[in-house]
Amino acid sequence: MHIIILGPPGSGKGTQSEQLITTFDLEHLSTGDMLRGEIAAGTELGLKAKSVMDAGDLVSDDIILGMVENKIQQSDKGLLFDGFPRTIPQAEGLDKILARTKTAVSHVIELKIEDDVIVERMLARGREDDNEETIRNRLDVYKAQTAPVIGHYQGQNIVHSVNGDQSIDAVFSDIKAVLTA
Ligand code: AMP
Repeated sequence: MHIIILGPPGSGKGTQSEQLITTFDLEHLSTGDMLRGEIAAGTELGLKAKSVMDAGDLVSDDIILGMVENKIQQSDKGLLFDGFPRTIPQAEGLDKILARTKTAVSHVIELKIEDDVIVERMLARGREDDNEETIRNRLDVYKAQTAPVIGHYQGQNIVHSVNGDQSIDAVFSDIKAVLTA
């Protein structure tokens, strides 16, 4: 099974992913972590991505799909996609890559949470790209480009919404219930 965890920035995707990979023996594929790894390693891709990320905009679909395809080809486990796909073209690209491996997405978990709760949480997190202006931009980008991805999977009846405005343990237990149903 491949799982997608979707939700606005600061909705707890990273935290939930860490627990999910252990409990369900999945491989974590976080495009944000991969990009931060490229920046830390000082690669050309990292240099290109950094200014885009600092502004809270999206890195190009080509770059993202290239990174993801490599990782999928190297993996022989169920994958947990965290922060990907973030656009409709990325979702369509993922469909094509998975079709070649004869696997598919089994669940899309949507974490739901209000904007003002997110801004509060993210300012407390204090990551380098977490100032109020960037956070607001990331929320706008999420609504315009990423929220439509949910519609892409709705027709397959695999989308499950979970209330993200609860304790970490309560969110995890709701997700677990979805995955074991
Ligand atoms: P995240 O750690 O998922 O919040 O991602 C941090 C930043 O990396 C985002 O604000 C984007 O600039 C970039 N990023 C991560 N994943 C993607 C993706 N799938 N498509 C485009 N940009 C991405």
